[in-house]
Amino acid sequence: MKLFQDFFSLFLQDKCPLCDRPGEHIVCRDCDRQLQKTKLINPKRHWQNDLPLFVWGQYDGSLKRAIATMKYDNCPQLGRWFGTQLGSQWRKSFPNQQKLTVIPIPMHPAKQQQRGFNQAEIIARQFAQVTGLRYEAQLLQRPKATQALFELTVAQRQRELQRAFSLNPKVISQGLRQPILLIDDIYTTGTTATEAQQTLVRGGLEVCGIAAIATPKTGKTPPPESSGGI
Ligand SMILES: [Zn+2]
Repeated sequence: MKLFQDFFSLFLQDKCPLCDRPGEHIVCRDCDRQLQKTKLINPKRHWQNDLPLFVWGQYDGSLKRAIATMKYDNCPQLGRWFGTQLGSQWRKSFPNQQKLTVIPIPMHPAKQQQRGFNQAEIIARQFAQVTGLRYEAQLLQRPKATQALFELTVAQRQRELQRAFSLNPKVISQGLRQPILLIDDIYTTGTTATEAQQTLVRGGLEVCGIAAIATPKTGKTPPPESSGGI
């Protein structure tokens, strides 16, 4: 009987990864309600300057815990939940924007192997599904292994991330729908996103901005830089 249950639970995956109670659409109703409280009223608040930022929620409380669970407790399915949330917010905010290619901020291959997945990739794939935008995971690559960024100053982060990314010429030669929208889980100082943007721009590509699940309230201690290095 036990075996039978285990076998079924593989397919049903009906437990909320945040509280272990029965979930409906990945997370349960209670956790959903908690997470929705962290959602920003205006996701386009930072959609300006050199690298416009579109963001779903504030990096705090239940959202902060959920992102940590996704990354460190091996819950990639939360990435799909986040991708759906971010995608539907985007669709409401930009209903007519169709000519974009969505790309995740890549993770160094060794890091990705260690974690088992790149959360930005899962979020971006789901985001593209919800919005109907084109998804391209192989364009931007990350050949340089960088050290953990959270202990570094902004200047040190910039130095560490210099030339961390490269472009895959094969993907460019196949033609891309532009501009490009970057996707990441957390946006903090923007060092990683800016370095990725500059790599794309140097390759002659246009970047319209970055969409992220969470950003800390300005003036707070920044959290570890997303797939940027921890
Ligand atoms: Zn729950």
